[in-house]
Amino acid sequence: MYGRAARRPESAVAAADPCPLCAFEETVVLQTTEPLDPGDRFVQFNLAAAGTSVSFSGCPRCAMVFRQPRPSATELNRYYADTLPPLEPGMMAGMGVTPALAAARYDVRYAGLFQELSPLAGSTPGHIADFGGWDGRSLKPWLANGWQATLVDPGAAGRPRVDDRIRSFSTAAEARAALPPAGVVTSYHCLEHLLDLGAWREEALSLGHPGTLWVIEVPFDVIHIRGLMAPRPMPASVVHEQHLNFFVPDSLRALGEHMGLDVEQVRIVVTEYWFGPIVGLRLVGRQRSAAPAALRPRFRDGAALRGFLARRLPLWKGWAGLKYRYFRWTHPPITSAEQAPSSITAPK
Ligand SMILES: [Zn+2]
Repeated sequence: MYGRAARRPESAVAAADPCPLCAFEETVVLQTTEPLDPGDRFVQFNLAAAGTSVSFSGCPRCAMVFRQPRPSATELNRYYADTLPPLEPGMMAGMGVTPALAAARYDVRYAGLFQELSPLAGSTPGHIADFGGWDGRSLKPWLANGWQATLVDPGAAGRPRVDDRIRSFSTAAEARAALPPAGVVTSYHCLEHLLDLGAWREEALSLGHPGTLWVIEVPFDVIHIRGLMAPRPMPASVVHEQHLNFFVPDSLRALGEHMGLDVEQVRIVVTEYWFGPIVGLRLVGRQRSAAPAALRPRFRDGAALRGFLARRLPLWKGWAGLKYRYFRWTHPPITSAEQAPSSITAPK
């Protein structure tokens, strides 16, 4: 997989990896950091070697922006299984967030999503599957409103769920062997972590069927990568070490088209998150009965993609900033666990 590219000799001139979304080979390096020093988070967490640089590449075919070198699957597994868990409580505490407060913010987040999305899903409760939803918290309001709920998440089988009625599976294949397809499939803040979006696309699609409503949300963190289009190298790694893929509205739409969805919306959204409100991108689409068509190329070449990003990034940033401020103005901050909406707490 893409892990092999991470073993490129350090002296080699940076070349772009194939696109993790559409596998197009003629991607371009947009920006590179200065060599990482030993104290850098990427180095500390064994996701890159000291002295190497991190690059941000772009795909002219689907407009995906992605980070390279990619950690190997083994390095990523080690990070999520061993490195991260003991650090997490300290990271949360450092931001002044207790587990109860994080849960309350998530409950508000998912109650809002249910209110927005359930009218699109039809008038009768059906079957919803969430792909990548950790303990299944996003499914609580759906359960409370009579839906059947399925969680697909690696390791889900051995993890406590927020509600015993959630059926949980580690892979989509296991879920599909046991259950009929879902009428709604959601995936929130998951794709930015994945090495291979093509593999995800194929696995995820098996959860749905023609007519399934798809909701895919990712963070809009490309607008926060300082100096992405600057002529000089960036000073150091400037993104969250967990994030490998940086969607723009065009690449999220391309993902939907590549999945064979009729894309109904791609929007910049502001939602609650465990540490407070964040800006994201949300796709809503409906699975077609026909097989996915070949992906329509977005840009003629790397220079066209580069020009597009240079023009759009300030506009996206401005618009996202306005939406963020409006959200803060209209939504009082959630500062205590008691502010969770009791209406969505599913009866046990
Ligand atoms: Zn691509």
